Amino acid sequence: IKTIILKNRPEGKPSMSDFEFVTDNTDLTIKEGEVLLETTYVSVDPYLRGRMSDAKSYVPPFQLNKPIQSGVIAKVLESKNDKFKKGDFVSGMLDWKTKQISTGEGLLKVDGSKAPLSAYLGILGMTGLTAYSGLTQIGKPKAGETLVVSGAAGAVGSVVGQIGKILGLNVIGIAGTDEKVEMLTTEFGFDAAINYNTTDNMTAAIAEAAPNGVDIYFDNVGGPISDAVLFNINQFARLVICGAISVYNNTEVPKSISVQPFLIKNSALMQGFIVSNYAEIFPEAMKQLSTWLSEGKLTYTETVVEGFDQIPNAFMDLFEGKNKGKMVVKVGE
Ligand code: NDP
Repeated sequence: IKTIILKNRPEGKPSMSDFEFVTDNTDLTIKEGEVLLETTYVSVDPYLRGRMSDAKSYVPPFQLNKPIQSGVIAKVLESKNDKFKKGDFVSGMLDWKTKQISTGEGLLKVDGSKAPLSAYLGILGMTGLTAYSGLTQIGKPKAGETLVVSGAAGAVGSVVGQIGKILGLNVIGIAGTDEKVEMLTTEFGFDAAINYNTTDNMTAAIAEAAPNGVDIYFDNVGGPISDAVLFNINQFARLVICGAISVYNNTEVPKSISVQPFLIKNSALMQGFIVSNYAEIFPEAMKQLSTWLSEGKLTYTETVVEGFDQIPNAFMDLFEGKNKGKMVVKVGE
């Protein structure tokens, strides 16, 4: 069995030397209640960077020299658990291993005939639920308002913007390449999009794209992009703080503008969240996302990298903006 363990806690940007491939010779005989799984797709996500550090957070850090875990889709090869049978596909938080034994706890069956299996790691999985929960529960959108989304061409951002359009918002996306900006307005129906890498004055560019100001900001990146949005917020704006990828690799505390005056003078709300806060609305969210997908109101893209050995690279590429939509690694059939 191939396994990827955390070799070192990354300093700054993660690098290949932080990971190690090892062969695990664990016996794969399952006991009563257990299932034997073969990995099909592995999700790589920016938040895993946080778990690679030993700083206190909402999930415990990964242990050194132990397998890294993330969202995984796996095939049941053998089962001694009543809930699963051979041939089923499941999703769960699992080790970066080609095969593993599970007690079945936390595993959900996924139906590959309703949607491609990888979609259960993206639009019908954690990132779709994050987009839906953050936008509806904190953003509290009202038709006609203006929504700005950063990290807009990624897994969460591309869904946030589309839901915004379905709910009648004017939607502006911010992303890192011309190709992504083009994709946002042509494929995902955003009203406007800005390439932060080629725009000198982001504050002015946002003002131009949002002449009526910004009512909702769905923030996936933090840093200077978010500062530029703050200069454009309206009274009673809602700032949905989902992610801050631009600072995840920082080794020093960044110098930043002070957000308080903007919040005070605009009576604005800024709220961070983690998707699991909204577990009670997941059934409703899944139903709504599936319906919109089947009606063609919602679409998605993904970047599929092939091969177990590519998992660390795919993860590191998130910080280089190499993905469009959800980044997943295909490991097996
Ligand atoms: P994405 O699919 O958006 O991938 C990451 C993207 O971030 C890249 O494609 C890149 O796009 C952009 N990026 C990378 N570095 C920078 C930078 N320095 N400045 C600006 N943009 C950058 O990932 P996800 O959709 O999975 O996650 C998006 C955000 O949401 C992350 O911050 C993540 O941690 C957070 N998140 C939070 C959750 C929660 O519960 N709160 C749950 C899930 C995700 P580009 O080319 O545009 O730069």
